Amino acid sequence: MKLGTILSLVLVLICIGFSRGYSKEEVCPIDGKKFEFNSKKNLALGINQKYPECPRCGFVLFEVRSYNPYREKFKQYIMSDEYQKMRKTETQTWRIAKIVEADQRPLETYVGYLEEATLSANSKQYSKYAKEAIDRELDVVKRWESYGDIVATIPRLIIIDLYRSLGEFENAKNMILETKKMIVKENNNDNTNYKEALGILDKQLVLLDKKDIKRRYLRNKEGEWSFRN
Ligand SMILES: [Zn+2]
Repeated sequence: MKLGTILSLVLVLICIGFSRGYSKEEVCPIDGKKFEFNSKKNLALGINQKYPECPRCGFVLFEVRSYNPYREKFKQYIMSDEYQKMRKTETQTWRIAKIVEADQRPLETYVGYLEEATLSANSKQYSKYAKEAIDRELDVVKRWESYGDIVATIPRLIIIDLYRSLGEFENAKNMILETKKMIVKENNNDNTNYKEALGILDKQLVLLDKKDIKRRYLRNKEGEWSFRN
């Protein structure tokens, strides 16, 4: 199996739908009232909202499921000062990450939304989002090391890319060298996954030498990873 395939399988898949404009009546699970979600109108108004969001309490309907069993739990967090303040300063995806965190979902789910949040962040938000994503990915590395090296390589590749995007070249380089050493040490049998990972790390080294912070190693809608601008 190719590393890219493993990446898509192992990492939490986030629904990236809603690419076409649509209008739909939704019911907010927090206050039980209806609201109209119109993605085209939002776009025209310059509102960056991929998911339906209640105009009253700011709850984001980010997954296809019934929220009822979670209503009380969610409600407390959504109505908190912390969440209500975030409505003015943070992106929708960042707030989804925080809802997921407050709901004590698995760390990997939280991290998946953090990564997505970096993609729609403005320059002010970016460093905060990316730094939080790095910190939590480092926790994922610790957890995944018990599953084997190639699995722990996956969050490492993401961290390296985030470090470089922040201009933290020294941190990026250290992790590249550490990861390469780890792969070479474990690679007894000409494994294609390891080869692919080494190729990605070498490409990261080239970008580091150029001090390139723009070119990123990212997932597309199909969950495949590649370098792009
Ligand atoms: Zn609401």
